[in-house]
Amino acid sequence: MNLIFFGAPGVGKGTQAALLAERLKVPHISTGAIFRAAIDSGRILGLQVKKYMDDGLLVPDELTTQVALEALAEPECAPGFILDGYPRNLAQAESLDKALQEKRRKIDKVVHLVVDEEELIDRMLNRGRPDDTEEVIRRRLGVYQRETAPVLDYYVDHGIVTVIDGLGTIPEVHERICTSIGHGLD
Ligand code: AMP
Repeated sequence: MNLIFFGAPGVGKGTQAALLAERLKVPHISTGAIFRAAIDSGRILGLQVKKYMDDGLLVPDELTTQVALEALAEPECAPGFILDGYPRNLAQAESLDKALQEKRRKIDKVVHLVVDEEELIDRMLNRGRPDDTEEVIRRRLGVYQRETAPVLDYYVDHGIVTVIDGLGTIPEVHERICTSIGHGLD
């Protein structure tokens, strides 16, 4: 199953995507995590993306799409994958579709996690990432509303979005996701 985890920053996409990936035994591809690892290991990619991440802005599409498509081309992704944090604007969504179509593949479902804004800010302030200062968080939420939220309509038009209430414990939300994609716990 080829899945996208979608939602505002702080909604729990990373946590839930990792849990589901373990359960389905498919790779969890987070462009944000790939960028953070590149920064930590001092790779050129890290230098190229750091200023955007520090400012809460999107890394340019060309770089981000290259990183995402390279990850998807790995043989481990053949049985399925979970994308987390990509695509984040319409251009990325279109690049992804085109690349998948060329390989006769497609996105099966978009899991849209939803919690209200105050809860998002609380969660981000508590996770302690270097780009989780209040100012940068507010900027990331603005970028999400302007650039990323419209991507949802694109997938709604394709009829593949499932909306999940992201409020609750991690196992509760995990169970909701599993049920909605047809992998309910017995
Ligand atoms: P995340 O871990 O998904 O919250 O991403 C952290 C940061 O990485 C974002 O604030 C962006 O600066 C950058 N980033 C991650 N994914 C993307 C993407 N698909 N497009 C552009 N920038 C991204």
